[in-house]
Amino acid sequence: GGAGGDPLLDGLNPAQERAVTARGPALLIVAGAGSGKTRVLTHRIAQLIRGREAWPSQILAITFTNKAAAEMRERLEGLLGSGVEGMWVSTFHSACVRILRRESERFGYVSGFTIYDSADSRALLKRIIKELDADSYGFTPANAGSKISRLKNELTDVDGYRATMNESDPRDRLFVEIFSMYQQELRRANAFDFDDLIGQTVQLFRSHPDVAAVYQRRFRHILVDEYQDTNHAQYALIRELTRPVEPEQVEGLTPPARDRELDASGRIPGASLTVVGDSDQSIYAFRGADIRNIVEFERDFAGAEVVKLEQNYRSTQNILSAANAVIGNNFDRQEKNLFTTAGDGERIVGFTGYSQHDEARFVAEEIEDLHRAGVAYGDIAVFYRTNSQTRALEELLIRSAVPYRVLGGTKFYERAEIKDAMAYLTSIANPYDPIAWSRLLGAPKRGIGPMAEAHLANFQEAQGISFLDAMLRADEVAALGPKPRSTVKELGALLIRAARMAAGGGATDEPGSGEKAPAPVGDVLKLILDETEMIEKLRAKRDPQDDARAENLEELIAVAREFDAKQPGAGLLAFLTEVSLVAAADDLDDTSGTVSLMTMHTAKGLEFKAVFITGVEEGLLPHQMSVDEIGGINEERRLMYVGITRARERLYLTLASTRATFGDVSVAMPSRFLQEIPEGLIDWRQSPGEVTGRGGTESRALNAPRGSSSGASGYGSRSRGRVDSSVSFGASGAAGRGSGSAAVSEPASGNMQSALDKWR
Ligand code: ATP
Ligand code: MG
Repeated sequence: GGAGGDPLLDGLNPAQERAVTARGPALLIVAGAGSGKTRVLTHRIAQLIRGREAWPSQILAITFTNKAAAEMRERLEGLLGSGVEGMWVSTFHSACVRILRRESERFGYVSGFTIYDSADSRALLKRIIKELDADSYGFTPANAGSKISRLKNELTDVDGYRATMNESDPRDRLFVEIFSMYQQELRRANAFDFDDLIGQTVQLFRSHPDVAAVYQRRFRHILVDEYQDTNHAQYALIRELTRPVEPEQVEGLTPPARDRELDASGRIPGASLTVVGDSDQSIYAFRGADIRNIVEFERDFAGAEVVKLEQNYRSTQNILSAANAVIGNNFDRQEKNLFTTAGDGERIVGFTGYSQHDEARFVAEEIEDLHRAGVAYGDIAVFYRTNSQTRALEELLIRSAVPYRVLGGTKFYERAEIKDAMAYLTSIANPYDPIAWSRLLGAPKRGIGPMAEAHLANFQEAQGISFLDAMLRADEVAALGPKPRSTVKELGALLIRAARMAAGGGATDEPGSGEKAPAPVGDVLKLILDETEMIEKLRAKRDPQDDARAENLEELIAVAREFDAKQPGAGLLAFLTEVSLVAAADDLDDTSGTVSLMTMHTAKGLEFKAVFITGVEEGLLPHQMSVDEIGGINEERRLMYVGITRARERLYLTLASTRATFGDVSVAMPSRFLQEIPEGLIDWRQSPGEVTGRGGTESRALNAPRGSSSGASGYGSRSRGRVDSSVSFGASGAAGRGSGSAAVSEPASGNMQSALDKWR
């Protein structure tokens, strides 16, 4: 195709070309990994704009991560040679935040609403569960939170749940109370949780057809990447956005526009919809992703055309054969015929370490070899199933001075000191947020105890004012001693100063009433950190851990300054939005010069020249949690498929024969997925059979110092993934393996032996 010398079609195969040029109301592109789905989507957008079929502002492109959105935007700018201002290229969540911020007064929220991450929602749920005494019924912030999240992904609200629940079950009744109180508290806090962002937007569109009409009319082309991982709420949002518009819903639709926009039925036709997906890469069922969305697309979107892409342009034949062999074991799928013309390439390298340290040592050494052979660090990625696996890898990479970055699970924004600082900024934007307010009262410690906090909160609630106003009026809180009164007033004064700065404050007390331009976010943050002396106080403790925390706060200032430079004048609210979305989903970090470490879930859609998949063991991959679940193994197999198909030229599959979890060394078995790969494809540097009988020896384990933050911060300035890694390991490790260790910690049994015999 593309013989005409059209740069947007050049080099595309006929199916790809069709995917770019088809112009029906709905188009479904189904294809295996690496077949050019994302590329085709990007070219399609470029062609629409270049051919003047659409203005950039009429396009809404949805990607799965912020990183993918940034990449698509960049590619578009490259293809079109100019800016793509006005185009929305974003995740579902970012698009919804933009809509909600604009329309917030429609549902009684203020535009400065806070977006609660899972830690914030858990904090709120903890209070509620305590207040309702629900822990005695087995409710925890975690289990109540995930149930609420599941319901929201299904667009079930409190009333909806109440209507279908089992009335005679006291636990169910109690849950309704928790759910309903949680929603009330969110509203009072002027906050949304992460799942609300989508559900509330759908709700908004359904209850306000005139608001919906604005967006339905605006977006003429909606394109969704990774469609196989949309959940019901996201699906509903797409349905709403692609509805035809009745002209009555559009204010001031005057004759020329009317004639242009209305179709034969007298309506503005719905947006054209293009979705691309691969059901073999559906890996988010646990977050409510629904493969049926793709299967039933043709029924849901009348007149839909389906295009299949079958040529893989990413990987060598050996890598592709391994991927095809693994996914072929899933019986519930449509057979696909992926091929490549890239040639066999190198064989896949297998390695079994004695321990995870030995495995990590191999990975680090191979990376150095690759680097010496001319592979850039940025072309190398290391994947794992759970975040708890990063520690051993990081230790070895640090020792070998390999620059690396942890994507996704960096937890930078989950660190206590970062949350403390962010609580100030959040409070400035949303002085009704109790979680942020309560956090900043005690950070740094200033002698305001739980009693004083409760008195203030009661006063705030009784007066119906913001927490900021309550602080300024602390003198009226009779129960408060003179010392706390003045402390609280002082703090309130600081917040006012910062708020005025952020809003571009002038002479009056009203934020935003002055003529000065809003100050850069970095300056506002700096003011707060200086006045509260948060950094100095940490430095004064002369403890390496606290030094690392101080460094993190300085890093946060750098992040804010970067934001100010990138989006001058965008302001505090935009910064808070970006942080909450990035923190929740993925990292926008530049990874060009560093090896990327990430979970396989985070790796979706990306590609690297060389890929290491580590911990290819039963209990980890497939993960123990999935083994007992219906369809769980199939989902893990798709995850393995996603992992393998990220590699362009070199693929490494590594495992350990023993694995230590919290000092508990256990025997690990090779993953069943390894046995699904034809033997001849793997070149075993050390096969599982070769390391039997040594199980349990940790002789080669390295005793790297824990919390080696000083060593960690040596490479480059942007080291947020590394600082204090031992702390985040502790937290994620507990959650990561959890139940998994029970099954894999069996001693070497006959069963184990027979499994290993296969490898001899
Ligand atoms: P995934 O399922 O992993 O998301 P995908 O189907 O979206 O993969 P892309 O990322 O779009 O695939 O493409 C995979 C690689 O193949 C990219 O490097 C892309 O540039 C390249 N590619 C796709 N189509 C062509 C083509 N016609 N000619 C040359 N390279 C191509
Ligand atoms: Mg893609």
